[in-house]
Amino acid sequence: MEYEAVIGLETHIQLNTLTKIFCSCKADSWFDPPNSNICPVCTGLPGSLPVLNETVVEKAVLLAAAMHAEIQPLSFFARKNYFYPDLPKGYQISQYDQPLAVGGYLDLPIPQGYTRRVSIWKLHIEEDAGKTKNDAGRRQIDFNRCGVPLVEMVTGPDLRSADEAAQYLIRLRQLLRWLGVSEADMEKAHLRCDANVSIRPQGATLLNPKTEIKNVNSIDAVREAIAKEIERQTREVTAGRLIQAWTLEWDEDAGVLRKMRSKETEADYRYFRDPDLLPLRVDEAWRKRILADLPELPLERKARFEAQYGLPAYDADILTAERRLSDYFEAAVKAYGSDPKRVSNWMMNDVTRMINERNTPPDRLKLTPAYLAEILRLVDAGTINISTGKALLLKVEESGRLPAEIVQAEGLAQVSDTGAIREVCAEVLAENPKEAAAYKAGKVTLIGWFVGQVMKKMRGKADPALARQVLEELLK
Ligand code: ZN
Ligand code: MN
Repeated sequence: MEYEAVIGLETHIQLNTLTKIFCSCKADSWFDPPNSNICPVCTGLPGSLPVLNETVVEKAVLLAAAMHAEIQPLSFFARKNYFYPDLPKGYQISQYDQPLAVGGYLDLPIPQGYTRRVSIWKLHIEEDAGKTKNDAGRRQIDFNRCGVPLVEMVTGPDLRSADEAAQYLIRLRQLLRWLGVSEADMEKAHLRCDANVSIRPQGATLLNPKTEIKNVNSIDAVREAIAKEIERQTREVTAGRLIQAWTLEWDEDAGVLRKMRSKETEADYRYFRDPDLLPLRVDEAWRKRILADLPELPLERKARFEAQYGLPAYDADILTAERRLSDYFEAAVKAYGSDPKRVSNWMMNDVTRMINERNTPPDRLKLTPAYLAEILRLVDAGTINISTGKALLLKVEESGRLPAEIVQAEGLAQVSDTGAIREVCAEVLAENPKEAAAYKAGKVTLIGWFVGQVMKKMRGKADPALARQVLEELLK
């Protein structure tokens, strides 16, 4: 029998605010020593009171809107009670029965050529807990992460393969960075993911008992762990055994899933409204103010790039991978004034490589969109040839000088003087009689090699089309 996988993901997203959710401690402690960003509020000392950080609400609302979720005008904070050493208050401040947003979806363009719509059940804000680690038999606790703002987002059981789950995280990460609400760096735990996995006969609609996979810290790990769990469940069911609702932990180093403690049920948390915090009201005026900053979303912009500029889907996807890159492209097209596909080619081949190699974001390049457009125009006008144009990209980036100024200062202008080119062509033919004879005997592919020799002698400045024409004439 053929089985299909049924997967839902629960993600925790660290918002990139300056301060924590209920106090003024610094939120990002990645480079700081343990317990250096803590205070009575985030360590739960008696008598301290939480005060909600407005920016947390604003970023969460922006994300909710981008997920097409329904933002609730009234939501509440609740205490989720459990005992663990990294939770000094003995409870986590979270949201429960009335979260900030419900419903919504994220569309995933799947590389195999279809779109998967993943429904979002709910989205709420909460505080993070601390971190424990074992050090030579001693348990150590770092409270820096206590009170770091999180958005928890739960999807419906809509994903059908390990690859689709990976695509969800790839598109979610793109969206978070696009909106500027999270750095979404999985290695720094800005984006964490638990996966609920079950299988069922292909085409069935029922839901079978599921297992929950925890502790997966990269997109590759999510893909691998889910694929292994689907395999295991398929083996079990094929052998006539039932799937039990285990919680599994992914062991990154060994590449295996291990059974964890059995999970608390919801009732174990004894949720109740937090009496220290007011109900969260997002009235219409505030919501409108926040949503005024909602940008055109990545997939919308991709579709527009295809329609407006006639780009292939492949180009449009790469150019909208990052918001600043897509802004750069549009500015360059505007400055150049025509042929968006030509701008796209230069960007995908050369500019993106420069961005990666030099580790400079698009908006920080000295090679501005206007300079890129100017280089293209210099090539179009025949002032420089294409290879000089490509070399010029780096020269502009390194110096920040105007392209035309560099062309003049370094004498890079293309030689289109037929007389000068003819002289060099004749020289090359005289110096290579064997190749010339081979060409005349029918090995016409040698023409490219001759053009190369001429370019070399003229230090790359010859007009290659003209050189080719002259060579063909002389070799007749
Ligand atoms: Zn604090
Ligand atoms: Mn949570």
